[in-house]
Amino acid sequence: MENFDFVSPTEFVFGRGAEEQVGAKLAERGARRVLVHFGGASARESGLIDRVAASLDAAGIEHLELGGVRPNPEITLVREAVALCKEAEVDWVLAVGGGSVIDSAKAVANGACIDGDVWELFETKRPNPDVLPIAVVLTIPAAGSEASKNAVVSNDELGRKTGYGSDAQRPKLAFMNPELTFTLPPFQTAAGLTDMFAHLLERFFDDYGPVPVTDNLNLSLMRTIRAEAPRVLVEPDNYDARANVMWAGMLCHQGLAGLGRHEDWATHALEHELSALDPSITHGAGLAVMFPAWMEYVCEENPARFAHYGREVFGLAPTGDVLADALSAVDETRAFFASLGMPTTLAELGVAEDDIERMLPTLRANKGDAFGSLRRLTLEDAAAIYRLAL
Ligand code: NAP
Ligand code: FE
Repeated sequence: MENFDFVSPTEFVFGRGAEEQVGAKLAERGARRVLVHFGGASARESGLIDRVAASLDAAGIEHLELGGVRPNPEITLVREAVALCKEAEVDWVLAVGGGSVIDSAKAVANGACIDGDVWELFETKRPNPDVLPIAVVLTIPAAGSEASKNAVVSNDELGRKTGYGSDAQRPKLAFMNPELTFTLPPFQTAAGLTDMFAHLLERFFDDYGPVPVTDNLNLSLMRTIRAEAPRVLVEPDNYDARANVMWAGMLCHQGLAGLGRHEDWATHALEHELSALDPSITHGAGLAVMFPAWMEYVCEENPARFAHYGREVFGLAPTGDVLADALSAVDETRAFFASLGMPTTLAELGVAEDDIERMLPTLRANKGDAFGSLRRLTLEDAAAIYRLAL
């Protein structure tokens, strides 16, 4: 097992009515003036923003609102929010939404404490210890950003989408009420399930040997997602199914499922270029296309690990031919994403062969000449994987 340093400062308030505790919990932590950050329409229309505001009012906490975060959040709104936080001397940022809102909030919380432009952190990845504390009311289980150390933000002017990682930006409080997810459209539910499953795959397949304590936790989360996925899609208001999925989404990405391993993350890098090319591409849908293509391309590096995954997660019986077993596991993965209603080809995302050359320069700007762990991918490998996914 590799050495690790794992920080997990998040307090989770989980269950029915969790968001009603926002005011009391923030007051306990000394919050006085909070920026409530949210997305396009869903949280306003459901009345959630009003309920959160009422909870803050009841606790005597001042609050300002800034909505309008789009999926694949963009730096322009982040800069606007940073200016607002500085002017109003905000001391906490409260994200009400999913990964996009939370990641925007993380960028805002960094930007509010530094002098220069916050995009510079995403560009240079330099550590920034000064971050406003962040709280989250989660409305979609997917990105796991409610406890993760990462934020992913787009810069449309530069055609980039890139991440910034720092333990200082892990949320301090996460309010998770599964009932808030009943209103998710099936496509968003499915994209979320795909993203959380992808966070496990990124951690399971790397160039390191077995780490049973981590690997078995990871495999158990994969099995749980496979079992709960059809339940939430068929019965969107099944509380227990939604609760299992919501908690799984957090466990998939807060860090435990990869501790002591190297982890890979090449497929997230390949997907971020799709969402940078076309911000209307949903992260989970891009991953559903790219993960099976990446697996097919690299599984010869360690077919036994892929065969093990196929047995443990999909119940595949060994045939005696380990490479054939590995390829069957890849097919099962593609079929699982398809069963959720996710796309299986780049064509379905509106991405054509000509687009591949367009994505490579920004991929190089984000990841350099080689990236990934199970197999170090060159830009030629990346182009080949995109072609496999066409
Ligand atoms: P999202 O982009 O935050 O939200 C997707 C859509 O779902 C939005 O259109 C939103 O609508 C809608 N929605 C959210 N909650 C809803 C609800 N309860 N009812 C109805 N509609 C609802 O989704 P996400 O998958 O959580 O986040 C994706 C982003 O996270 C991507 O940028 C991805 O790259 C990033 N990501 C981050 C990490 C990390 O660790 N930070 C990890 C993986 C991915 P409204 O706008 O109207 O609310
Ligand atoms: Fe993701």
